[in-house]
Amino acid sequence: MKQILWFRRDLRVDDSAILHYANGEVLPLFIFDKNILNRLESDDKRVTFIYKSVLNLKKKLKNIGLDLAIFYGYPEKIFQILQKKHNFDTVLCSCDFDSYAIKRDKEVECILPMRRLYDSYLIHPNDALKSDDTPYKIFTPFYKSLYPLWSSDTIEEYSVFQNNIKFDFDYTFIPKLTDMGFVPKDLPYFLEKSPDTLCTEFISKLGHYEDNRNYFYLDGTSNLAVYLRFGLISPKQVFNTIKKYPKSEFFIRELFWREFYAYILYHKPSSEFENYNGKEIVWSENKDTFKAWCDGVTGIPIIDAAMRHLNTTGLIHNRLRMITASFLTKNLFLPWQWGEKYFAKKLLDYDASSNIGSWQWSASTGADSVPYFRVFNPYTQSAKFDKDGVFIKSILKELIEVDPKLLHKENGIQENLFMDYPSAIVDIKLSRANAINKFKNERLQEI
Ligand code: FAD
Repeated sequence: MKQILWFRRDLRVDDSAILHYANGEVLPLFIFDKNILNRLESDDKRVTFIYKSVLNLKKKLKNIGLDLAIFYGYPEKIFQILQKKHNFDTVLCSCDFDSYAIKRDKEVECILPMRRLYDSYLIHPNDALKSDDTPYKIFTPFYKSLYPLWSSDTIEEYSVFQNNIKFDFDYTFIPKLTDMGFVPKDLPYFLEKSPDTLCTEFISKLGHYEDNRNYFYLDGTSNLAVYLRFGLISPKQVFNTIKKYPKSEFFIRELFWREFYAYILYHKPSSEFENYNGKEIVWSENKDTFKAWCDGVTGIPIIDAAMRHLNTTGLIHNRLRMITASFLTKNLFLPWQWGEKYFAKKLLDYDASSNIGSWQWSASTGADSVPYFRVFNPYTQSAKFDKDGVFIKSILKELIEVDPKLLHKENGIQENLFMDYPSAIVDIKLSRANAINKFKNERLQEI
Protein backbone atom coordinates (compact mmCIF):
# COMPACT_ATOMS: atom_id res chain seq x y z
CA MET A 1 0.00 0.00 0.00
CA LYS A 2 1.39 3.43 -1.01
CA GLN A 3 -0.19 6.40 0.71
CA ILE A 4 0.14 10.17 0.67
CA LEU A 5 -0.36 11.81 4.07
CA TRP A 6 -1.53 15.31 3.25
CA PHE A 7 -1.01 17.64 6.22
CA ARG A 8 -3.17 20.77 6.04
CA ARG A 9 -4.80 22.01 9.22
CA ASP A 10 -3.30 19.28 11.41
CA LEU A 11 0.37 20.21 11.71
CA ARG A 12 1.20 17.80 14.53
CA VAL A 13 2.42 14.29 15.19
CA ASP A 14 0.58 13.51 18.45
CA ASP A 15 -3.10 12.63 18.34
CA SER A 16 -2.95 12.62 14.55
CA ALA A 17 -5.58 10.61 12.72
CA ILE A 18 -3.57 10.44 9.52
CA LEU A 19 -0.51 9.05 11.28
CA HIS A 20 -2.73 6.61 13.15
CA TYR A 21 -4.46 5.24 10.05
CA ALA A 22 -1.41 5.40 7.75
CA ASN A 23 -0.26 1.97 6.82
CA GLY A 24 2.53 0.97 4.47
CA GLU A 25 4.82 3.15 2.43
CA VAL A 26 3.93 6.75 3.19
CA LEU A 27 4.75 10.13 1.69
CA PRO A 28 3.86 12.88 4.20
CA LEU A 29 3.52 16.21 2.43
CA PHE A 30 2.55 19.83 2.87
CA ILE A 31 1.63 22.20 0.05
CA PHE A 32 2.09 25.94 0.21
CA ASP A 33 -1.05 26.39 -1.86
CA LYS A 34 -0.80 29.13 -4.49
CA ASN A 35 -4.60 29.38 -4.67
CA ILE A 36 -4.55 30.59 -1.05
CA LEU A 37 -1.21 32.40 -0.92
CA ASN A 38 -1.86 34.45 -4.06
CA ARG A 39 -4.79 36.13 -2.29
CA LEU A 40 -2.74 37.24 0.72
CA GLU A 41 -0.71 40.40 1.35
CA SER A 42 3.07 39.91 1.41
CA ASP A 43 3.27 40.88 5.09
CA ASP A 44 0.65 38.34 6.24
CA LYS A 45 1.84 37.08 9.63
CA ARG A 46 -0.05 33.82 9.30
CA VAL A 47 2.31 32.68 6.56
CA THR A 48 5.32 33.17 8.86
CA PHE A 49 3.52 31.15 11.52
CA ILE A 50 2.59 28.33 9.14
CA TYR A 51 6.09 28.31 7.66
CA LYS A 52 7.68 27.85 11.10
CA SER A 53 5.09 25.23 12.02
CA VAL A 54 5.72 23.23 8.83
CA LEU A 55 9.47 23.16 9.46
CA ASN A 56 8.80 22.01 13.00
CA LEU A 57 6.50 19.27 11.74
CA LYS A 58 9.24 18.11 9.36
CA LYS A 59 11.60 17.79 12.35
CA LYS A 60 9.05 15.85 14.38
CA LEU A 61 8.28 13.49 11.51
CA LYS A 62 12.00 12.82 11.12
CA ASN A 63 12.09 11.86 14.80
CA ILE A 64 9.65 9.05 14.07
CA GLY A 65 11.52 7.83 11.02
CA LEU A 66 9.50 9.72 8.40
CA ASP A 67 9.97 13.09 6.69
CA LEU A 68 7.88 15.84 5.10
CA ALA A 69 7.96 16.70 1.41
CA ILE A 70 7.22 20.40 0.97
CA PHE A 71 5.69 21.78 -2.21
CA TYR A 72 4.82 25.26 -3.44
CA GLY A 73 2.14 25.25 -6.13
CA TYR A 74 -1.42 24.24 -7.01
CA PRO A 75 -2.62 21.06 -5.24
CA GLU A 76 -4.39 19.67 -8.31
CA LYS A 77 -1.25 19.94 -10.47
CA ILE A 78 1.01 18.56 -7.75
CA PHE A 79 -1.19 15.51 -7.27
CA GLN A 80 -1.41 14.95 -11.02
CA ILE A 81 2.40 14.85 -11.28
CA LEU A 82 2.83 12.65 -8.18
CA GLN A 83 0.18 10.25 -9.36
CA LYS A 84 1.57 9.94 -12.86
CA LYS A 85 5.03 9.21 -11.54
CA HIS A 86 4.35 7.08 -8.46
CA ASN A 87 0.79 5.79 -8.65
CA PHE A 88 -0.29 6.06 -4.99
CA ASP A 89 -3.24 4.06 -3.67
CA THR A 90 -4.79 6.79 -1.59
CA VAL A 91 -4.38 10.13 0.14
CA LEU A 92 -5.20 10.57 3.82
CA CYS A 93 -6.09 14.05 5.02
CA SER A 94 -7.99 15.96 7.68
CA CYS A 95 -11.41 17.44 7.02
CA ASP A 96 -12.16 21.04 6.09
CA PHE A 97 -15.62 22.45 5.51
CA ASP A 98 -15.32 25.79 3.73
CA SER A 99 -16.17 26.18 0.06
CA TYR A 100 -12.60 26.43 -1.24
CA ALA A 101 -11.54 23.31 0.70
CA ILE A 102 -14.52 21.35 -0.64
CA LYS A 103 -13.75 22.37 -4.23
CA ARG A 104 -10.01 21.63 -3.84
CA ASP A 105 -10.67 18.20 -2.35
CA LYS A 106 -13.14 17.32 -5.11
CA GLU A 107 -10.48 18.12 -7.70
CA VAL A 108 -7.87 15.99 -5.96
CA GLU A 109 -10.38 13.18 -5.49
CA CYS A 110 -10.68 12.95 -9.28
CA ILE A 111 -6.97 12.12 -9.37
CA LEU A 112 -6.72 9.56 -6.57
CA PRO A 113 -8.97 8.20 -3.80
CA MET A 114 -9.12 10.36 -0.70
CA ARG A 115 -9.79 9.32 2.87
CA ARG A 116 -10.98 12.24 4.98
CA LEU A 117 -10.38 12.02 8.72
CA TYR A 118 -12.03 14.06 11.41
CA ASP A 119 -9.44 14.93 14.04
CA SER A 120 -9.65 18.71 13.82
CA TYR A 121 -12.81 18.47 15.91
CA LEU A 122 -14.06 16.38 18.82
CA ILE A 123 -16.99 14.99 16.86
CA HIS A 124 -17.96 14.20 13.31
CA PRO A 125 -20.87 16.51 12.41
CA ASN A 126 -23.09 13.49 11.76
CA ASP A 127 -22.50 12.18 15.28
CA ALA A 128 -24.93 14.63 16.86
CA LEU A 129 -28.28 14.57 15.10
CA LYS A 130 -31.78 15.00 16.52
CA SER A 131 -34.07 11.98 16.81
CA ASP A 132 -35.43 12.78 13.32
CA ASP A 133 -31.87 12.66 11.94
CA THR A 134 -31.73 16.39 11.23
CA PRO A 135 -29.03 18.66 12.68
CA TYR A 136 -29.55 20.85 15.75
CA LYS A 137 -29.96 24.55 15.13
CA ILE A 138 -29.54 25.65 18.75
CA PHE A 139 -26.35 25.31 20.76
CA THR A 140 -27.72 24.12 24.13
CA PRO A 141 -29.55 20.99 22.92
CA PHE A 142 -26.60 20.22 20.64
CA TYR A 143 -24.30 20.50 23.65
CA LYS A 144 -26.60 18.52 25.94
CA SER A 145 -26.79 15.71 23.42
CA LEU A 146 -23.01 15.38 23.73
CA TYR A 147 -23.15 14.84 27.49
CA PRO A 148 -21.37 11.45 27.35
CA LEU A 149 -18.46 13.17 25.63
CA TRP A 150 -17.98 16.32 27.71
CA SER A 151 -18.79 14.66 31.01
CA SER A 152 -15.94 12.19 30.55
CA ASP A 153 -12.55 12.98 32.07
CA THR A 154 -10.56 12.09 29.00
CA ILE A 155 -11.18 11.35 25.35
CA GLU A 156 -9.02 8.70 23.79
CA GLU A 157 -6.31 10.12 21.57
CA TYR A 158 -4.87 8.60 18.39
CA SER A 159 -1.66 6.68 18.70
CA VAL A 160 0.90 6.69 15.88
CA PHE A 161 1.07 3.52 13.84
CA GLN A 162 4.74 2.65 14.25
CA ASN A 163 5.43 0.44 11.26
CA ASN A 164 5.13 2.96 8.47
CA ILE A 165 7.87 2.99 5.89
CA LYS A 166 9.18 6.29 4.57
CA PHE A 167 8.43 6.49 0.84
CA ASP A 168 11.60 6.89 -1.19
CA PHE A 169 11.47 10.53 -2.32
CA ASP A 170 13.61 13.67 -2.51
CA TYR A 171 12.57 15.49 0.68
CA THR A 172 15.17 18.27 0.45
CA PHE A 173 13.17 21.08 -1.18
CA ILE A 174 12.26 23.85 1.29
CA PRO A 175 11.06 27.04 -0.39
CA LYS A 176 12.10 30.29 1.26
CA LEU A 177 9.35 32.58 2.54
CA THR A 178 10.73 35.35 0.35
CA ASP A 179 10.69 33.09 -2.75
CA MET A 180 6.97 32.68 -2.17
CA GLY A 181 6.58 36.46 -2.00
CA PHE A 182 6.30 36.85 1.79
CA VAL A 183 8.23 38.91 4.29
CA PRO A 184 9.15 37.10 7.53
CA LYS A 185 7.23 38.83 10.34
CA ASP A 186 7.53 39.01 14.12
CA LEU A 187 4.78 37.09 15.88
CA PRO A 188 3.00 37.87 19.16
CA TYR A 189 4.81 36.55 22.25
CA PHE A 190 2.40 33.66 22.78
CA LEU A 191 3.08 32.24 19.34
CA GLU A 192 6.72 31.85 20.28
CA LYS A 193 5.60 29.35 22.96
CA SER A 194 4.52 25.80 22.29
CA PRO A 195 0.81 24.98 22.52
CA ASP A 196 1.61 22.58 25.39
CA THR A 197 3.21 25.44 27.34
CA LEU A 198 0.19 27.66 26.69
CA CYS A 199 -2.13 24.90 27.87
CA THR A 200 -0.13 24.41 31.07
CA GLU A 201 0.04 28.16 31.71
CA PHE A 202 -3.69 28.43 31.18
CA ILE A 203 -4.39 26.08 34.11
CA SER A 204 -3.49 28.90 36.53
CA LYS A 205 -6.00 31.22 34.75
CA LEU A 206 -8.78 28.65 34.70
CA GLY A 207 -10.28 29.54 38.11
CA HIS A 208 -11.11 33.08 36.93
CA TYR A 209 -11.65 32.33 33.25
CA GLU A 210 -15.42 32.82 33.26
CA ASP A 211 -15.08 36.43 34.50
CA ASN A 212 -11.66 37.47 33.31
CA ARG A 213 -12.27 36.39 29.71
CA ASN A 214 -14.46 39.49 29.30
CA TYR A 215 -11.83 42.06 30.23
CA PHE A 216 -9.80 42.82 27.18
CA TYR A 217 -6.94 44.48 29.06
CA LEU A 218 -6.35 41.21 30.95
CA ASP A 219 -4.65 38.13 29.55
CA GLY A 220 -7.43 35.90 30.86
CA THR A 221 -7.87 33.41 28.03
CA SER A 222 -5.85 30.49 26.67
CA ASN A 223 -4.58 32.10 23.43
CA LEU A 224 -4.90 28.67 21.84
CA ALA A 225 -7.08 29.61 18.85
CA VAL A 226 -4.23 29.94 16.33
CA TYR A 227 -2.81 26.58 17.40
CA LEU A 228 -6.20 24.92 17.18
CA ARG A 229 -6.79 26.47 13.78
CA PHE A 230 -3.64 25.00 12.28
CA GLY A 231 -3.83 21.84 14.37
CA LEU A 232 -0.56 22.16 16.26
CA ILE A 233 -2.63 20.90 19.15
CA SER A 234 -5.82 18.91 18.79
CA PRO A 235 -9.06 19.78 20.56
CA LYS A 236 -8.83 16.38 22.28
CA GLN A 237 -5.42 17.23 23.67
CA VAL A 238 -6.74 20.56 24.97
CA PHE A 239 -9.77 18.82 26.48
CA ASN A 240 -7.62 16.15 28.14
CA THR A 241 -5.21 18.69 29.63
CA ILE A 242 -7.84 21.04 31.02
CA LYS A 243 -10.91 18.96 31.83
CA LYS A 244 -9.52 17.35 35.00
CA TYR A 245 -9.10 20.71 36.76
CA PRO A 246 -11.78 22.37 38.90
CA LYS A 247 -13.83 25.09 37.21
CA SER A 248 -13.06 23.79 33.72
CA GLU A 249 -16.74 23.54 32.63
CA PHE A 250 -17.07 27.00 31.19
CA PHE A 251 -13.91 26.69 29.12
CA ILE A 252 -14.88 23.23 27.85
CA ARG A 253 -18.23 24.67 26.78
CA GLU A 254 -16.37 27.27 24.70
CA LEU A 255 -14.50 24.48 22.94
CA PHE A 256 -17.91 23.09 22.00
CA TRP A 257 -18.91 26.42 20.43
CA ARG A 258 -16.03 25.75 18.04
CA GLU A 259 -17.56 22.34 17.37
CA PHE A 260 -21.01 23.85 16.91
CA TYR A 261 -19.91 26.35 14.27
CA ALA A 262 -18.05 23.68 12.28
CA TYR A 263 -21.16 21.49 12.58
CA ILE A 264 -23.39 24.30 11.29
CA LEU A 265 -21.14 24.99 8.29
CA TYR A 266 -20.91 21.28 7.48
CA HIS A 267 -24.67 20.84 7.53
CA LYS A 268 -25.46 24.15 5.85
CA PRO A 269 -22.56 25.10 3.55
CA SER A 270 -24.64 27.95 2.06
CA SER A 271 -24.31 29.77 5.41
CA GLU A 272 -20.79 30.72 4.32
CA PHE A 273 -22.45 33.41 2.18
CA GLU A 274 -26.16 33.56 3.07
CA ASN A 275 -28.13 34.29 6.23
CA TYR A 276 -28.45 31.00 8.06
CA ASN A 277 -31.91 31.84 9.42
CA GLY A 278 -33.28 32.79 6.00
CA LYS A 279 -34.05 36.39 6.96
CA GLU A 280 -34.04 38.74 4.01
CA ILE A 281 -32.30 41.89 5.12
CA VAL A 282 -31.66 44.92 2.97
CA TRP A 283 -28.38 46.09 4.43
CA SER A 284 -26.87 49.51 3.85
CA GLU A 285 -24.05 49.60 1.30
CA ASN A 286 -22.26 52.63 2.63
CA LYS A 287 -18.60 52.14 1.66
CA ASP A 288 -17.47 55.22 3.63
CA THR A 289 -18.74 54.02 6.99
CA PHE A 290 -17.28 50.58 6.24
CA LYS A 291 -13.89 52.13 5.54
CA ALA A 292 -14.06 54.13 8.78
CA TRP A 293 -14.81 50.89 10.66
CA CYS A 294 -11.92 49.06 8.96
CA ASP A 295 -9.46 51.88 9.59
CA GLY A 296 -10.56 52.48 13.18
CA VAL A 297 -11.64 56.10 12.65
CA THR A 298 -15.30 55.91 13.65
CA GLY A 299 -14.93 58.46 16.45
CA ILE A 300 -15.94 55.82 19.00
CA PRO A 301 -12.86 55.03 21.10
CA ILE A 302 -13.52 51.38 21.86
CA ILE A 303 -14.28 50.54 18.21
CA ASP A 304 -11.28 52.49 16.95
CA ALA A 305 -8.88 50.94 19.46
CA ALA A 306 -10.12 47.42 18.68
CA MET A 307 -9.87 47.83 14.91
CA ARG A 308 -6.48 49.56 14.94
CA HIS A 309 -5.16 46.82 17.23
CA LEU A 310 -6.51 44.18 14.84
CA ASN A 311 -4.94 45.96 11.86
CA THR A 312 -1.47 46.10 13.39
CA THR A 313 -1.35 42.77 15.26
CA GLY A 314 -3.93 40.37 13.78
CA LEU A 315 -5.34 40.01 17.28
CA ILE A 316 -8.69 41.04 18.73
CA HIS A 317 -10.21 39.90 21.98
CA ASN A 318 -13.49 37.95 21.86
CA ARG A 319 -15.53 40.70 23.55
CA LEU A 320 -14.09 43.27 21.18
CA ARG A 321 -15.03 41.03 18.26
CA MET A 322 -18.60 41.02 19.57
CA ILE A 323 -18.65 44.79 20.10
CA THR A 324 -17.16 45.67 16.70
CA ALA A 325 -19.35 43.11 14.90
CA SER A 326 -22.51 44.39 16.60
CA PHE A 327 -21.52 47.95 15.70
CA LEU A 328 -20.96 47.03 12.04
CA THR A 329 -24.14 45.03 11.57
CA LYS A 330 -26.54 46.97 13.81
CA ASN A 331 -25.37 50.56 14.18
CA LEU A 332 -23.89 50.86 10.68
CA PHE A 333 -26.33 48.28 9.34
CA LEU A 334 -23.71 46.89 6.96
CA PRO A 335 -23.74 43.27 5.73
CA TRP A 336 -22.10 40.79 8.12
CA GLN A 337 -20.37 39.31 5.06
CA TRP A 338 -18.27 42.48 4.74
CA GLY A 339 -17.09 42.25 8.33
CA GLU A 340 -16.52 38.51 8.04
CA LYS A 341 -14.35 39.00 4.98
CA TYR A 342 -12.36 41.75 6.67
CA PHE A 343 -11.73 39.62 9.77
CA ALA A 344 -10.74 36.72 7.49
CA LYS A 345 -8.06 38.93 5.98
CA LYS A 346 -6.71 40.15 9.30
CA LEU A 347 -7.23 37.56 12.05
CA LEU A 348 -4.27 35.40 12.98
CA ASP A 349 -6.70 32.77 14.24
CA TYR A 350 -9.04 33.08 11.26
CA ASP A 351 -11.09 29.93 10.98
CA ALA A 352 -13.89 29.90 8.42
CA SER A 353 -16.56 28.13 10.46
CA SER A 354 -15.96 30.03 13.73
CA ASN A 355 -15.71 33.35 11.93
CA ILE A 356 -18.82 32.85 9.80
CA GLY A 357 -20.81 31.42 12.72
CA SER A 358 -19.78 34.21 15.07
CA TRP A 359 -20.48 36.95 12.53
CA GLN A 360 -23.92 35.51 11.86
CA TRP A 361 -24.43 35.30 15.65
CA SER A 362 -23.62 39.01 15.97
CA ALA A 363 -25.82 39.95 13.01
CA SER A 364 -28.79 37.98 14.43
CA THR A 365 -28.95 35.97 11.21
CA GLY A 366 -27.25 32.80 12.40
CA ALA A 367 -27.91 29.62 14.31
CA ASP A 368 -28.79 30.42 17.91
CA SER A 369 -27.69 34.01 17.46
CA VAL A 370 -28.11 37.08 19.62
CA PRO A 371 -31.73 38.39 19.43
CA TYR A 372 -32.00 41.29 16.96
CA PHE A 373 -33.08 43.70 19.67
CA ARG A 374 -29.92 43.08 21.71
CA VAL A 375 -27.51 45.65 20.36
CA PHE A 376 -24.22 46.18 22.17
CA ASN A 377 -23.78 49.80 23.20
CA PRO A 378 -20.05 50.40 22.63
CA TYR A 379 -19.86 53.11 25.30
CA THR A 380 -21.54 50.95 27.96
CA GLN A 381 -19.29 48.06 27.00
CA SER A 382 -16.11 50.07 27.34
CA ALA A 383 -17.27 51.57 30.65
CA LYS A 384 -17.89 48.06 31.96
CA PHE A 385 -14.89 46.20 30.59
CA ASP A 386 -12.25 48.93 30.28
CA LYS A 387 -13.33 51.40 32.97
CA ASP A 388 -9.97 53.14 33.29
CA GLY A 389 -9.38 53.05 29.55
CA VAL A 390 -6.26 50.90 29.95
CA PHE A 391 -6.76 49.08 26.66
CA ILE A 392 -8.10 52.07 24.74
CA LYS A 393 -5.21 54.31 25.78
CA SER A 394 -2.65 51.64 25.01
CA ILE A 395 -3.75 51.83 21.37
CA LEU A 396 -5.07 55.36 20.91
CA LYS A 397 -2.02 57.21 22.20
CA GLU A 398 -3.62 60.54 21.25
CA LEU A 399 -6.14 59.98 24.06
CA ILE A 400 -3.61 59.21 26.77
CA GLU A 401 -4.33 62.39 28.75
CA VAL A 402 -8.11 62.15 28.42
CA ASP A 403 -10.29 61.62 31.52
CA PRO A 404 -11.38 57.94 31.18
CA LYS A 405 -15.01 58.96 31.78
CA LEU A 406 -15.02 60.82 28.47
CA LEU A 407 -14.00 57.66 26.62
CA HIS A 408 -17.29 56.08 27.60
CA LYS A 409 -19.51 59.06 26.77
CA GLU A 410 -20.94 59.55 23.28
CA ASN A 411 -18.89 62.31 21.61
CA GLY A 412 -17.37 62.95 25.05
CA ILE A 413 -13.86 63.51 23.71
CA GLN A 414 -15.08 65.68 20.87
CA GLU A 415 -16.48 68.18 23.41
CA ASN A 416 -12.90 69.38 23.74
CA LEU A 417 -12.34 71.38 20.58
CA PHE A 418 -8.57 71.09 20.91
CA MET A 419 -8.64 67.30 20.62
CA ASP A 420 -7.74 65.91 17.23
CA TYR A 421 -10.18 63.04 17.17
CA PRO A 422 -12.96 62.42 14.60
CA SER A 423 -16.64 62.94 15.42
CA ALA A 424 -18.66 59.78 15.89
CA ILE A 425 -19.88 58.61 12.48
CA VAL A 426 -23.20 57.46 13.83
CA ASP A 427 -25.67 58.28 16.61
CA ILE A 428 -25.77 55.18 18.78
CA LYS A 429 -29.34 55.47 20.09
CA LEU A 430 -30.86 56.41 16.76
CA SER A 431 -29.00 53.79 14.75
CA ARG A 432 -29.93 51.13 17.30
CA ALA A 433 -33.62 52.04 17.01
CA ASN A 434 -33.41 52.03 13.20
CA ALA A 435 -31.77 48.61 13.16
CA ILE A 436 -34.38 47.11 15.47
CA ASN A 437 -37.16 48.55 13.31
CA LYS A 438 -35.64 47.15 10.14
CA PHE A 439 -35.21 43.71 11.68
CA LYS A 440 -38.82 43.77 12.91
CA ASN A 441 -40.07 44.46 9.41
CA GLU A 442 -37.94 41.93 7.59
CA ARG A 443 -39.74 39.03 6.06
CA LEU A 444 -38.92 35.63 7.50
CA GLN A 445 -38.55 33.07 4.76
CA GLU A 446 -39.13 29.39 5.25
CA ILE A 447 -35.90 27.67 6.30
P1 FAD B 1 -10.37 31.02 24.76
O1 FAD B 1 -11.33 31.91 25.42
O2 FAD B 1 -9.19 30.58 25.54
O3 FAD B 1 -11.16 29.77 24.23
C1 FAD B 1 -10.53 28.52 23.92
C2 FAD B 1 -10.90 28.06 22.55
O4 FAD B 1 -12.30 27.83 22.42
C3 FAD B 1 -10.57 29.08 21.48
O5 FAD B 1 -9.23 29.00 21.12
C4 FAD B 1 -11.53 28.70 20.37
O6 FAD B 1 -11.02 27.63 19.61
C5 FAD B 1 -12.75 28.23 21.13
N1 FAD B 1 -13.70 29.33 21.29
C6 FAD B 1 -13.79 30.19 22.32
N2 FAD B 1 -14.84 31.04 22.13
C7 FAD B 1 -15.39 30.69 20.95
C8 FAD B 1 -16.51 31.17 20.21
N3 FAD B 1 -17.26 32.18 20.64
N4 FAD B 1 -16.78 30.57 19.04
C9 FAD B 1 -16.05 29.55 18.57
N5 FAD B 1 -14.99 29.03 19.24
C10 FAD B 1 -14.67 29.61 20.41
N6 FAD B 1 -12.51 32.12 16.74
C11 FAD B 1 -11.62 31.54 15.92
O7 FAD B 1 -10.94 30.59 16.33
N7 FAD B 1 -11.47 31.95 14.63
C12 FAD B 1 -12.20 33.00 14.10
O8 FAD B 1 -12.03 33.34 12.92
C13 FAD B 1 -13.12 33.65 14.97
N8 FAD B 1 -13.83 34.72 14.53
C14 FAD B 1 -14.72 35.34 15.38
C15 FAD B 1 -15.47 36.44 14.90
C16 FAD B 1 -16.36 37.09 15.74
C17 FAD B 1 -17.19 38.24 15.19
C18 FAD B 1 -16.51 36.66 17.08
C19 FAD B 1 -17.49 37.35 17.99
C20 FAD B 1 -15.78 35.58 17.56
C21 FAD B 1 -14.88 34.90 16.72
N9 FAD B 1 -14.12 33.80 17.18
C22 FAD B 1 -13.25 33.17 16.33
C23 FAD B 1 -14.33 33.23 18.54
C24 FAD B 1 -13.41 33.78 19.65
O9 FAD B 1 -13.38 35.18 19.63
C25 FAD B 1 -11.98 33.25 19.59
O10 FAD B 1 -11.99 31.84 19.45
C26 FAD B 1 -11.19 33.59 20.85
O11 FAD B 1 -11.18 34.99 21.05
C27 FAD B 1 -9.77 33.07 20.72
O12 FAD B 1 -9.00 33.40 21.86
P2 FAD B 1 -8.53 32.25 22.84
O13 FAD B 1 -7.89 31.16 22.09
O14 FAD B 1 -7.71 32.90 23.91
O15 FAD B 1 -9.91 31.74 23.40
